[in-house]
Amino acid sequence: MSKKLDAFLNENLGELKEQGLYNEIDPVEGPNGPVIKVRGKDLINLSSNNYLGLATNEELKKLAKDAIDKYGVGAGAVRTINGTLDIHVKLEEKLAEFKGTEAAISFQSGFNCNMAAISGVMDKNDAILSDQLNHASIIDGCRLSRAKIIAFKHSDMDDLRQKAKEATESGLYNKVMVITDGVFSMDGDIAKLPEIVEIAKEFDLITYVDDAHGSGVTGKGKGTVKHFGLEKEVDLQMGTLSKAVGVVGGYVAGKQNLIDWLKVRARPFLFSTAVPPGDVAAIIGALQMIMDSTELHDKLWDNGDYLKKGLKELGFNIGESETPITPCIIGDEKLTQQFSKRLFEEGVYAKSIVFPTVPKGTGRVRNMPTAAHTKEMLDDAIATYEKVGKELGVIN
Ligand code: PMP
Repeated sequence: MSKKLDAFLNENLGELKEQGLYNEIDPVEGPNGPVIKVRGKDLINLSSNNYLGLATNEELKKLAKDAIDKYGVGAGAVRTINGTLDIHVKLEEKLAEFKGTEAAISFQSGFNCNMAAISGVMDKNDAILSDQLNHASIIDGCRLSRAKIIAFKHSDMDDLRQKAKEATESGLYNKVMVITDGVFSMDGDIAKLPEIVEIAKEFDLITYVDDAHGSGVTGKGKGTVKHFGLEKEVDLQMGTLSKAVGVVGGYVAGKQNLIDWLKVRARPFLFSTAVPPGDVAAIIGALQMIMDSTELHDKLWDNGDYLKKGLKELGFNIGESETPITPCIIGDEKLTQQFSKRLFEEGVYAKSIVFPTVPKGTGRVRNMPTAAHTKEMLDDAIATYEKVGKELGVIN
């Protein structure tokens, strides 16, 4: 190994480990369902994004297996050579139907979808107004585009309006985009899309909503744009296929000309192998399930409300979530990590989230209830929170 690289790694890894910031990964020894096995221990799982429980759905597993039998395990090429299988086309038609748009384009992950779509539409002559709490993949997509990035205060519409006015009136930029998460995953709050769309109309901004945590969850399953009835107003409806949909991948839904453009400019579409057929078949099945019935959606929200009520009644600070995401805000970083560790020892898997992912002093254990949890599991989790909360002096 290069001596320089070795020294760099030793110094930086050592520093992280010293500060307790090196994230050791515990592999899950089986399916990522409502109960998981980690280090041989069965734990109630409150940390997955498998909102509707579809990641382990038997019908979807069968669809994936059948597609593997028919097409094989890999797509064989990038989309623009001959990696576009007929089921990729079907998937994109299904996504457009799901999102109420003319067309859609799919990618290998939500992360690379943001990288591809933002940099596919924006360039160095443009500016992007980005909510300060937007996801890392949005931030990286904005950087990759080389547009001027102008952060606005989280969901602060006065700040957005002011910055939109300055950016458009400066004459410095060709196009200006406003970009936001639909649902913010650390607090569970929903973006103020009606106001954002209004400001966008006033200043002719391109609107981009990353609904990774909204699709399948808000808008009766159809997402946050649908929740507000803004399908005709938002230019790029981005989403992931890895959370509520339970598989893997990302997409943008929008007008036909936008999708046609991304098909010739979005670099992971052009230069990275297409999503494997088994995954594609499972995704199509999952989208159909979400469109056909709100049963899983309703169960998810019922479980979210149940967990929130239980934790709140015990005296925990669960913030202002508007979705099933249930943060339990503890504050001090070390205490938060200790809390999560004690939950693990007592049979509950709920990850601590601390600075720099959230602001200093707002460390939290984040709970992600799903449609697959039973009330008994949630009762057990709440009882464990009570025990650990009292032991560590977080509640009385
Ligand atoms: N956007 C947001 C808001 C996310 O939370 C995530 C996942 N953490 C992504 C994009 C990336 O999605 P994926 O996991 O499918 O790459």
